[in-house]
Parts: sequence; C-alpha cells; structure tokens
Amino acid sequence: MLSRLPALHWQIAIALVLAIAAGFLLDDSATFLAVADFLGELFLNALRMLIVPLIVSSMMQAMLNLPAASAVGRLGARLLGWIGLSTLLAVIVGMLMINTFQPGVIDGQPAGETLGLDASTAQVTERVEGAATSDIADIFLRMLPPNIVGAAVETQMLGLIVFSLLFGFFASRLRGELRDQQYRFWQGVYEIMLQITALVMRFAPIGVFALVGATVAKTGWEAFGPLLVFFGCVAGALLLHLLVVLPALVRVLGGVSGFRHLQAMMPALLTAFSTSSSAATLPVSLDCVQRRAGVSPSTSGFVLPLGATVNMNGTALYECAAALFIAQAYGLDLSLASQFLVVMLALLTSVGVAGVPSASLVAIAVILGAIGLPLEGVGLILAVDRILDMMRTAVNVYGDTCGAVIIARGEGESPYAADPDSASADHA
Ligand code: ASP
Repeated sequence: MLSRLPALHWQIAIALVLAIAAGFLLDDSATFLAVADFLGELFLNALRMLIVPLIVSSMMQAMLNLPAASAVGRLGARLLGWIGLSTLLAVIVGMLMINTFQPGVIDGQPAGETLGLDASTAQVTERVEGAATSDIADIFLRMLPPNIVGAAVETQMLGLIVFSLLFGFFASRLRGELRDQQYRFWQGVYEIMLQITALVMRFAPIGVFALVGATVAKTGWEAFGPLLVFFGCVAGALLLHLLVVLPALVRVLGGVSGFRHLQAMMPALLTAFSTSSSAATLPVSLDCVQRRAGVSPSTSGFVLPLGATVNMNGTALYECAAALFIAQAYGLDLSLASQFLVVMLALLTSVGVAGVPSASLVAIAVILGAIGLPLEGVGLILAVDRILDMMRTAVNVYGDTCGAVIIARGEGESPYAADPDSASADHA
C-alpha cells in the first residue's frame, strides 16, 4: 500500500501546496491552528531529538574513517574555502538587489515614516557605534563551552562540534583493539541514527503540512503591504543564489549538474523550508547527500554538521539586505566603507548564527549597532521575517549540500556516479 504512494519529495511538495491553501482558507479557525501547531511541534521535536546524537556520531565516524590526520586539515581547509566563496557571492547578490531596487525608498523619500519608524534621519546619523565586536568575540567563546553536557542540553552546536572533532581525532589515534572498538561503536550509533531519521521522515508530509499551514494562517498577506518590495528583493536574491549561483558552482567545481543536485536534495530543501531550521534539517540533509548524491559518510559526516552550523549563505544574504534596507528607510546614505563593514559583518555573523528559526535577527541587530542604526529597525522587518526565514534556511541547507558534493569531488569521490537514478529514488 505504502509503496503505491508517490516518492517522498512529491508527498512533501503536495503537502506544501495543500498547507498554503489550508492556511488561507482556515486562517480564522482556532481548531485548525491548534491542531497544526501541535502536529508541527511534534514533527519538529522528533527532528530536534536527533540533533545531538547525530552530530556527535557523524563527526566521530567521519574522524575515525578519515585515513590520516592530514585529511582532517585538508577537508577543513576546503570547507573554509567553500564557506568563504559561497557566502561572499550570496552577500554580493543581496547587496546588488537592494542597491538596484531601493526598497527603503518610497517616491524618492526614505520609507521610515511610512513604515512607522520613530527615530528621524538626523537622530540616526548622530548615533554612535554600538559594541558589535563583543558579539563577534562571543562566537569564539561558544567554540569552547565550559560544560559539554550543558552545550548538548542547549544544542550549542558549535561547542559540540569542536569537542566531537577533538574526541574523534584522538580516538582515531588510538592503537589496535581500542581504536576498533571506538570505530565499531560510533559507526553503530550513527547507523541507528540514520534509521531513526528515515522513520521520522515518513511523517514529513504531515509535519510540513502542519508547520507551513500554521505559518500561512498566522502571517497572511496583510503583513506584506508596505514591505512588498523588500520581500520581493530578498526572495528574488535568494532564488537567484539558489537557482543560478550555487548550481553554477556545483557544475564548475563539482562536475555535477546543478539542477540534478537540486532535484536530489528536494526532501532536505522542503524540510528546511518548513522547519526554518538548518539544525533540525541536518538528519535529512545527511541522508540525502549520502543516499541520493552518493557522497561518502566520512566526507558528508564531516562537512554537513559543520556546514549546518557555520555555513549560511541565505542568512548572510538576508542580513546584508536587511541592514541596507533599514539604512535606506532611515535615509542614511551608506558610504562605501560602511557598506564594506556590512558585508564583512554579514559574513562573520552568519557563521555565529544558530541554525534555528529567526536566529538572524540577533545578527542583524549586531550589524545595525555597528553602523550606528537604532535597533528598532529590526522591528520593521519582523512582519515578513517568518516567510523569508523559510526561504533563507532552504538556501543555507542547499549551500551545505553543494559544499559536500564539491569537497567530495576534491577528495577523489564521484558523486552521483554509483546510481544514475539516485536523484529520483525515494530514500524513505
Ligand atoms: N533559520 C536559519 C537557519 O536555521 C537561521 C536564520 O537565518 O535565522 O538556517
């Protein structure tokens, strides 16, 4: 019976369309909202429950599978190169879009007043710089959590990853039986986690329907009114990065058709879209990259948990676009130096942003503080943040999977070579 259902990504896509329709039709039904909230939370919890054991076991098995210590350094350097390149391109796309369409200017006037901002252009221009650097230092502090159990409890991914890297590295240096024991143990835990992920994903269509249905019912169209141009600019820039820039990079650097990869990653992208959380999507992206793209567990187990935590193309693009939009709305003409500062801060803070819903808002506040804009500007974009969060999270996750394929290729692997039909195979 189950085998007669369409492939999982189609089921999720159908659920998405039905959810949008249901969200609009039932937006004043308290019962629909309550049921959708409950089912959505249940699905999110199931994914969140997997995060800690999955990160730890995937990093461990990756480290224990890597042939030599030098491989760790090489993978790390390649990942860093990918993050730098793809994030910089994303930020540039966002910046060009906002500078071209000027969503913060309405009829030649700063949109601040129309949008209900309190501070006047003159007040804003006088503001002094905020203490943004302490927030950036915070990223480094989070890499070494004082208590690893506490980090796990709070799903502090960066700290967990650093500890797992260290543990895995020294476990792989053990000799003989001790090393084999570690290898077998972590490999076992990892495979169990993948099986549970596959089980959870069987319920993805229901989870997606509930999460998206509730969001659409709560947000509606009204919120978009004055922010429509900003919304369009960010959505357009995200789509440009997703459909043009990243596929081109996958083609050139990974030797794989970008659209084939996009199609194969659909379950991960749709999960990212509905959960707005790269961290919660990690189980699905790992599964897609291994089973559908054929990337080895050691490469994907290293690249994806790190990528889900520090590589955020969509987030960096959004941060930069939001900061420039808010500056325009206040009538502030940003100098080239300030625009450069925005770009650098968007790059840096996107690394520190957690893979959870609306996490970028904090980073945007940091950037606004650094260029001297009042934090009330963040309130301006709240109305459209939820939907844009869904879109940027999908771009974040797609960027990670592209990195995995490109890095795998650099390691001598041949993604998509083993099973030519893998892109359309259902993984559940
Ligand atoms: N929700 C995003 C993610 O999980 C982070 C953000 O930009 O708010 O990737």
